[in-house]
Amino acid sequence: MVEPGPGEVLVSAEQIAKRTAELGAEISRDYEGREVLMLGILKGAFLFMADLARELTVPCELDFMAVSSYGSSTSSSGVVRIVKDLDAPIADKHVLLVEDIVDSGLTLSYLLKNLAARGPASLEICTLLSKPGRSGRDLPVRYVGFELPDVFVVGYGLDHAQKHRNLPHIAALEA
Ligand code: 5GP
Repeated sequence: MVEPGPGEVLVSAEQIAKRTAELGAEISRDYEGREVLMLGILKGAFLFMADLARELTVPCELDFMAVSSYGSSTSSSGVVRIVKDLDAPIADKHVLLVEDIVDSGLTLSYLLKNLAARGPASLEICTLLSKPGRSGRDLPVRYVGFELPDVFVVGYGLDHAQKHRNLPHIAALEA
């Protein structure tokens, strides 16, 4: 059996870098005079978080959370387990949740409820990728890098069976 692997490039490294700089400038304008707590969701968002953080001109702190969804490898079940929680409380902080991709939105809606209960001063979402045909579009996502068709993608942090996270671009997974 042939293992599925990265196929057609959907978003190039150059496109990612350009859009990340645009998002960084927009976020820096919006948070002028405030300090941001960037909250990255591991493992998928680690590269995007690192690149986006370097584009911010406002003071920022970084923290990470790791979640795992009980589902098959290519779809989300909506039942989320916190594998690694934040290191510090977020009460009264301006939290920017940094995600790799919003697909069904189930992971994000769980996280939003969980984080909102901790009393942040504000809570916004920045996702590199979004699949607009899915119900994730109903979530209040303030910053979106790219909208994708409904295909499973890998690269730039996103995996299939833990592989391909190190690709510099986003590619469709092909059999
Ligand atoms: P949701 O709960 O929105 O359906 O899924 C969110 C999570 O599922 C993402 O954070 C990501 O880990 C994973 N996911 C959703 N779509 C894709 C995809 O196309 N490729 C990869 N590698 N992971 C995905």
